[in-house]
Amino acid sequence: MRILVDMDDVLAETCKKFEEIWKEKHPDLICIPAEQQPFYYFTDCYPKEYAPLIEEIRMSKGIFLSLKPTEGGLEAITEMKSKGHEVFICSSPLTGHETCASEKYQWVRHYLGKEWEKKTLLVPDKTVVSGNILIDDKPEITGIAVPSWEHIFYDRPYNRHITNKRRLTWDNWREVLKL
Ligand SMILES: [Mg+2]
Repeated sequence: MRILVDMDDVLAETCKKFEEIWKEKHPDLICIPAEQQPFYYFTDCYPKEYAPLIEEIRMSKGIFLSLKPTEGGLEAITEMKSKGHEVFICSSPLTGHETCASEKYQWVRHYLGKEWEKKTLLVPDKTVVSGNILIDDKPEITGIAVPSWEHIFYDRPYNRHITNKRRLTWDNWREVLKL
């Protein structure tokens, strides 16, 4: 089976890092904890006037390299690969961020090594990538093609309103994928 695995908030704790920086930079403003984040985009979660402050953090250099791996995620994809599956990391770099793509490659090299860097696909449109499944936290994944993969949610609070798709965490992925 060919398995595509997203990075942000699947293999790496992007929302948690945002929360951490937000609290540090703006201790007197409201802060929405990552585990309660109601919408996929940070800007949809906060009052409109905070948009420039949010953008400043999202666009900051080094943020993607500084993300902590999601507990159990790197072990899970390594296990999938060892079971003979073809696993690719599949992530869309943040448009307009100068170093996002190179930070993502560096992150993979740092935590997983060069072999996995070669298995990392950075693409703005995931629908053109072929695979059996795509593990992703994003509520709606759209693009120019009809996806060949089944979208399986990585469980996050902002995708729980969609109930017609399978979902997993790095605790129960073996049962959900029946691997
Ligand atoms: Mg993601």
